Amino acid sequence: MKNITIIGHKNEKDLNLTQRAAKKACRRISQFLKLEIPKSTIKLTYSRKELDKKMGHKTEPWIIALADLEKNEITIFAPSIYSKEGIYPIDRFPSTVCHEMTHIAIYAFVKGRSVPVWLNEGLPYVVANQTDPEQTFFIPEQGICKALDSPKNWRQNIRGVGQNLVGRFVKFLIDSYSLTKLMKLLKDLEPNYQYVHFAEIFKKIYDKTITEVEKEFLDEINNP
Ligand SMILES: [Zn+2]
Repeated sequence: MKNITIIGHKNEKDLNLTQRAAKKACRRISQFLKLEIPKSTIKLTYSRKELDKKMGHKTEPWIIALADLEKNEITIFAPSIYSKEGIYPIDRFPSTVCHEMTHIAIYAFVKGRSVPVWLNEGLPYVVANQTDPEQTFFIPEQGICKALDSPKNWRQNIRGVGQNLVGRFVKFLIDSYSLTKLMKLLKDLEPNYQYVHFAEIFKKIYDKTITEVEKEFLDEINNP
């Protein structure tokens, strides 16, 4: 694993578990998305204070990792304290690593184009296999793509909705319309995101409006 450096570990076991997770994640991302991971660092942390400092505010218990995209650096709770500091069991550690590394791979792929949050969050959920068909969610009134596009809208609307929704929606787009179309969508984004422009790009690629496709998604999850 020449392009991933792991730092901050306090013992060999944490290092080994992280190496294994990183290797698996690289393989998954290159097989699934056909993307290479740029040279990156995984920094293991043992304190929530450090995460808070990186985020610039007190983090909620479900925040267990973050990706600094400018630096290609992931900060994540070390395996030995991962389930104590967060709300997830340790067997979710590898998929957390995969999720954060997918963020880094997407960021490198889009090269400064701006990705709506539902897509930027949804795709790592799919790549890391974190979507859960049993978990319930609500559809925001304005529709998924509109209610969850900018960071501000995301913060306002995601709480009542649940992140599983965006993962399920992106999975639907891939399964029903192909990964090729989704990657084309990422490729055709503009540097300055605007919903109206995004909706046009979407329509060109999918030959349907966002509203039509969101309705198909709803029909499918209601009648699986
Ligand atoms: Zn994420």
